[in-house]
This record gives sequence, structure tokens and C-alpha cells, in this order.
Amino acid sequence: MSETVTILGVAVDGVDNAEMLDQIAQWVDARRETHCARQICTVNPEYLVDARRDPTFAAVLAGADLRVADGAGVLWAARRAGHTLRERVTGSDGIYRISERAAQRGWRVFFLGAAPGVAARAATILRERYPGLVIAGAYAGNPTPEEWPAIAGWLAATQPDILFVAYGHPRQDFWIAAHRCELHAAVAIGVGGAFDFVAGVQRRAPAWLQRLNLEWLYRLLREPRRWRRMMKLPVFVWMVLTQREDTVDKVTPF
Ligand code: UDP
Repeated sequence: MSETVTILGVAVDGVDNAEMLDQIAQWVDARRETHCARQICTVNPEYLVDARRDPTFAAVLAGADLRVADGAGVLWAARRAGHTLRERVTGSDGIYRISERAAQRGWRVFFLGAAPGVAARAATILRERYPGLVIAGAYAGNPTPEEWPAIAGWLAATQPDILFVAYGHPRQDFWIAAHRCELHAAVAIGVGGAFDFVAGVQRRAPAWLQRLNLEWLYRLLREPRRWRRMMKLPVFVWMVLTQREDTVDKVTPF
């Protein structure tokens, strides 16, 4: 049984990767029961700081169907409060796992976002890796209202089961929340820079750095322009260490 751990006011679902895949499978099987796409948010410390500061982002997270623990800092904060989130459930790994399951089950997958050509490249690489993967479409687009009619047209025409959205945090999550009942998809998940990693546009931190919980440092060194965003990490640590005991996490059954 999975737990939900509330960290800085955000309820993070304690699913592991296998449970997330099973949940997605349930939603795809039941897609005719609901018109609106299920939304998955990959929560890292930046999400939690932003949710504290911006009630509209907190509302997006609260309204999502699944909030998975993407960042090592999220696992640390849960541990500090005496709860265990079993493993990181990231968009960057999730794109492989979900594509693998999609190829086995015949789910139609749409790749939306990143720079022109990157979504199509990522889709092709994943189809080579998981033969049989059905690519409903790949389109860069962007999250502006001007682009919506074109994207809506693609989605209506292709009716994907899974929609990967790579518009980065927080735009991708706002965008999915705003459009979730018009996406013609069963499940929509914001995957940040995952297309860049799959397509080889950016390199992901090596596994040993990920194990040391230093993926953020690798990303900062490779993309120094992220330093302003990364400043939220010490803010996160400060927020977790200083929050009052009575506002600390509570656990409810998933
Ligand atoms: N991106 C995009 N449109 C935008 C902003 C960002 O397609 O308007 C893409 C960008 O090309 C990259 C991805 O969003 O592939 C992730 O961006 P970032 O690294 O900032 O997101 P994070 O992984 O930190 O959420």
C-alpha cells in the first residue's frame, strides 16, 4: 500500500516506478470513462518551493491525479519527517519505462515540446529501443495560446493514450492543467528535459552521481544558466528545516 506524504503542503504520492506504470495502465484502460486526461506531475524541490510561493501552482499540483517524487530532495524531506518514499520516480527515466510499457500494450504515444526536431528524434530513438512503439505524433510547439489551435488539431486527429509534454517546469504543468479536458489523451505527464536527454541534446548525470544525489550539481555545471533556478535548492532545505513541527507531514493511505 502506498502512502501519500505531505511535504511543504504538497501531497506527494509514494508510488514506486512499477506502481506508477500500473496506475497509468489502469487509466489508459479506463480512458472512455472520463473525458479529461489524467495529469502526472514529477515533483522536485523547485516544485515545492514554487508551490509555497504561488498558490496557483499549488492548485495545479493539488488538482493533479498523481504527484510522483522526482527529486532526491523530496525523498530526503520525507525521510526527515519520518516517512519513506521508496525511490525517485523521474520523468527522465519514466519516459523509457512508459515507452516500454506502451510498446508492449500498443498505447499510442505523442511527444510534445522541446526544440524543433528534438521530439521526433526522441520518439524515433525510443521506437528503435522498444520495437512496436506506436508514435501518435511528435511536435515541438510551445505553451503559448497562439500555438494551441495547432496542437489541439494534432491531438484531436491522433487521440494519443500517453502525452509526454516537455515544456519545462512550471509551464508544462500549468499547460496540462489548463487543457487537460481538451487533450484527447488518457494520460498527460510533464517530463521536463527528458526529450533532450533521450535525443542526446543534453547529457544526463552518470548513474554514480545520481546515486550520490548530485544530479542537480551535474545539471548546474552543464547548464550554468540554471543557477537562478537552482538557488531554490538551498531555499528548499531552509524551508524544510525550519517548518514548524505541527505543519510537518501527515500520512494518508494512497
Ligand atoms: N521548452 C519548450 N518550450 C518552452 C520552454 C521550454 O519546449 O517554451 C523545453 C526545452 O527545450 C527543454 C524542456 O522544455 O527541452 C525542458 O526545459 P528545462 O530544462 O528548463 O526544464 P526542466 O527539466 O528543468 O523542467
